[in-house]
Amino acid sequence: MRIIRCIYKDAIYYGRIEDDLVVLSKDLPQIRIHDKKKRIDFDREEAKVPFSSVYLEAPCVPTKAVCVGLNYRDHAEEFGLKIPSSPVLFIKPSTTLLGPGKPIHYPRLSKQVDYEAELVVVIGKTAKNIDAKYALDYVLGYTCGNDVTARDLQPKDGQWTVAKSFDTFMPLGPWIETDLDPSSLKLKAYLNNEPKQVSSTSNLIFDVPSLIEYISQIMTLNPGDVIMTGTPSGVGPMQKGDSVCIEIEGIGRLENTIE
Ligand code: MG
Repeated sequence: MRIIRCIYKDAIYYGRIEDDLVVLSKDLPQIRIHDKKKRIDFDREEAKVPFSSVYLEAPCVPTKAVCVGLNYRDHAEEFGLKIPSSPVLFIKPSTTLLGPGKPIHYPRLSKQVDYEAELVVVIGKTAKNIDAKYALDYVLGYTCGNDVTARDLQPKDGQWTVAKSFDTFMPLGPWIETDLDPSSLKLKAYLNNEPKQVSSTSNLIFDVPSLIEYISQIMTLNPGDVIMTGTPSGVGPMQKGDSVCIEIEGIGRLENTIE
């Protein structure tokens, strides 16, 4: 199932894509477990409208985005960095959220703004102290993300809040794909249609279930919260006027411009 969040006739909806139609709903769908099998249900479905009549927004509204610092073997090797023994975490505020097709704002304070292609896990059910064995039961699905980073500001503070937190620095989308095995997906970043990052989620140091187990021991993950799983090698700067695209196998393409 593909889940979107969209504007239709000046109102905001969630929806599921059915061929070239969208079944609209006011709420994020619920995860229910029946006979040990996960089911995703929209409880209040409304109109069925053409996909071409809706305007896509970011597919969920996280209360927090938990991001993983160094989580790709190829990225660590490229920079000669030690593989971390536990995930390096930071948070992006909800005000960084940006929908597909919308402009990333180049902040006045920075002189180097980088793209980072990332597989993004969308949580669908309140998760606290979850064993990795059951972690995927709490996942609504996956989307593409760009962990936009003001690279020149990253070393300045000794931690990453400033570099990662400018408004519009978290494009997500275009939708949430629910039927996907996250363990081996091709992931790419294009800058002005030129491939810059090419890797696979099979290079993740900490996989999706172990990230959920670790993070949910620290903080409760709410429905709609996201985990940005880290970026592979090949990060680089964007300029005003550029277009950037994050493509993940089985999900699709998230495109944004820089202004
Ligand atoms: Mg990142």
